[in-house]
Amino acid sequence: MITRLLNQLLINITDVLLEMYVTGICGSDMHYWKHMAIGPFIVTDPMIIGHESSGTVVKVGKNVKHLKPGNLINSFENLY
Ligand SMILES: [Zn+2]
Repeated sequence: MITRLLNQLLINITDVLLEMYVTGICGSDMHYWKHMAIGPFIVTDPMIIGHESSGTVVKVGKNVKHLKPGNLINSFENLY
């Protein structure tokens, strides 16, 4: 059901739409949450914690050649 709804979304030619399964909260995230900083990196804008995630590719833009729907992915990124 969710995948069917996601497939109806329009995306840009270089976007990849993911259906996420889980996102971990690690020690870095705890520092961001409790201190709004980790070492020299200070959070100055709203930030969604959790940057170690896994899921499945649902849809890719027409210029994306290295992924296709159904690929399993993991990511290690910060979202701001
Ligand atoms: Zn981490």
